[in-house]
Amino acid sequence: MNNIIVLKFGGSSISDNKKLELVARRITKIYDSGKKIVVVLSAQGKTTDKLIKEAKELSNNIPNRELDALLSCGEQMSTAKLSILLNFYGYPAISLTGWQAGILTDKNSQNANILKINTSRILKELNNEKIVVVTGFQGINENLDITTLGRGGSDTTAVAIASALNCDNCYIFSDVDGVYTADPNKITNTKKLENISYKEMQELSNEGAKVLHNRCVQIGEKFNIPIITKSTFNEEKGTVISNKIEDNSVKSIIKKDVSKVSIIGNGIIRNYSLIGKIIEYLKDKNFDILKLEITEMKISIIFKNIIEDESLQEIHKLIF
Ligand code: ADP
Ligand code: ASP
Ligand code: MG
Repeated sequence: MNNIIVLKFGGSSISDNKKLELVARRITKIYDSGKKIVVVLSAQGKTTDKLIKEAKELSNNIPNRELDALLSCGEQMSTAKLSILLNFYGYPAISLTGWQAGILTDKNSQNANILKINTSRILKELNNEKIVVVTGFQGINENLDITTLGRGGSDTTAVAIASALNCDNCYIFSDVDGVYTADPNKITNTKKLENISYKEMQELSNEGAKVLHNRCVQIGEKFNIPIITKSTFNEEKGTVISNKIEDNSVKSIIKKDVSKVSIIGNGIIRNYSLIGKIIEYLKDKNFDILKLEITEMKISIIFKNIIEDESLQEIHKLIF
């Protein structure tokens, strides 16, 4: 068994110093239990949005390379701050940027893919009993230019590091304590899922559920690393994303953009009663439908008009 644990904390979990302290305390407890810890951090709160806005105020023709250089700063600030805090608490910690952590990517600015992780520096620091705090969302390409991995990409950094270090799983801490039957911040009476398969989660991420970056789920599947999503702010059991597949289980509903609704669950194509219920509901409400598509794992409805959260709430109630 590998004694290394990878913990990722998202932007909303560290949006101010109080929350950063909470995260630091959580980490020190795990360190005290004897684990070797790699922490992956996002930028604090809305820092990345703010940096994008500021760049746009300066120019309407921002060089991709410079935007990557700018956006990567948010994670460098948060990791340095956490390391300062951990050291202040008397724990040996070191922050590493993407390049210091050996994260090599392709040249796709703002949407780079991780090609390889040279783990030697991370391992050296872990062997020196350090808590290693790595910037999420960034790497370096073969020209030694900084790249970023796409919005929400810190999840992908975490799972890629967990796989490179042969960890048993990867923990993603967020403002929600798992993956729900719908976005719990928009829909009421949602239920937390105990399990969801990599394939279902990829569909959900592709349809825009922010809770996990789609590429982190692909990496998890490729290297068979279970991803465990938990809340930063409570000890509740989270959701496990793994290769465990449950047949005929409807998992989650999501709205993409303003007029596409998708319902995801393995074997949904054979769930005739559910399909019937949805078609009846759509007819009943006289919706103008542009496209209805049913695949093995997904029912997608594209409406002609804007679909309100109220309708999503009604469909959610119908299904769950
Ligand atoms: P972080 O800042 O930790 O990276 P994100 O904002 O990227 O967190 O992702 C968490 C958010 O994902 C939640 O606050 C929630 O609004 C949203 N979300 C969308 N769909 C779901 C879902 N099915 N289950 C849980 N959260 C969801
Ligand atoms: N800071 C980046 C973003 O806001 C990456 C992340 O949070 O995962 O998209
Ligand atoms: Mg995120």
